[in-house]
Amino acid sequence: MKAGASLETKYINLKEKIDNEKIKEASQDILNGKLVLFPTETVYGIGANALDEKACENIFKAKGRAQDNPLIVHVSNLEMIKQIVEEPNELEKKLIKAFCPGPFTIILKAKDIIPRSVTAGLDTVGIRMPSNEIAHKLIEYANVPIAAPSANISGRPSGTNIDDIINEFNGKVASIIDAGAVDIGVESTVVRVINEKVRILRPGKITKEDIENLGVEVEVDKNILGKYDGKEKVMSPGMKYRHYAPNTKCMMIYSKDEEKMIDKIKETANGKNVLIICKDKNYDKYNCKNIIKMGNTLEEIAHNIFSILRKVDKYNVDLVIIEGMQKDGLGLALNNRLLRACEYNYIEI
Ligand code: AMP
Ligand code: MG
Repeated sequence: MKAGASLETKYINLKEKIDNEKIKEASQDILNGKLVLFPTETVYGIGANALDEKACENIFKAKGRAQDNPLIVHVSNLEMIKQIVEEPNELEKKLIKAFCPGPFTIILKAKDIIPRSVTAGLDTVGIRMPSNEIAHKLIEYANVPIAAPSANISGRPSGTNIDDIINEFNGKVASIIDAGAVDIGVESTVVRVINEKVRILRPGKITKEDIENLGVEVEVDKNILGKYDGKEKVMSPGMKYRHYAPNTKCMMIYSKDEEKMIDKIKETANGKNVLIICKDKNYDKYNCKNIIKMGNTLEEIAHNIFSILRKVDKYNVDLVIIEGMQKDGLGLALNNRLLRACEYNYIEI
């Protein structure tokens, strides 16, 4: 297949119920070197046989992904992990035991079997074992690891339901498996063990606190809440790139004191053509023509946020103001994604 070229894309509807035969058909596409768009518990993925160099190159073409940004490899069991990486150390094993399957990616030393198009030339590879039943079965039936980044054109918000992304991939992939809205809504937590400490390279649903509960030391990479200054080499190439940002200028305003935050947002919005993205419970406090509710809890916000970010350009406003949120727990992942959507245009008072 030539990515970018138009091909007949099969649409597989598994929104109501799972059909194993349909998943088997899609696993054949994987084995035939084609691309499959499939659900995971975090976001939708665009997958190819991780052992097929050419197929993986086509993922980069379909997404317009930078060549130096490696792909995460999805596995369905421990045997597959052994096939593709060198023996993990004790701490790495502990993390795998605690968080796999789940929304968790661990960077390990890659074996030569993993092609260069997956690792982007690094000697490591990110491994993830999804808990989503369809993703699990797709890998199990194909019986090969599946390399899959998030299903979105690079730079755009990740796809959390098919309606948001079908136009980006129709004609570029062999099949699209639609399972409705995903569970979590933000991508997996990415970690790497460095000097007996766990470094979080990308925050997600498995939180710093969850990892600390194992009795291990955890550090958060400085690029997670800070803007990459372009000087040092980053631990995770994805940190370097513009991501999640709509074309409309966005800003995030936060205070631990909710009333103060609301006042500051009102003051900033005053006299301007703005869109406000706020928690459901604050909706009535703004007297604004354009307003979107994002949920109340961190889980609800995670579930909704990428779909909301994809809608903002339709409003034709000069500025989008997003209510900020706490930075612990799942809030770290949300702050990381939203700061990037706002290109670090952030006020905390
Ligand atoms: P995506 O699959 O599009 O959600 O992005 C995967 C993220 O994991 C990107 O930020 C990558 O840079 C990062 N990643 C994948 N493989 C590695 C690796 N071997 N070392 C460090 N970061 C990685
Ligand atoms: Mg991505």
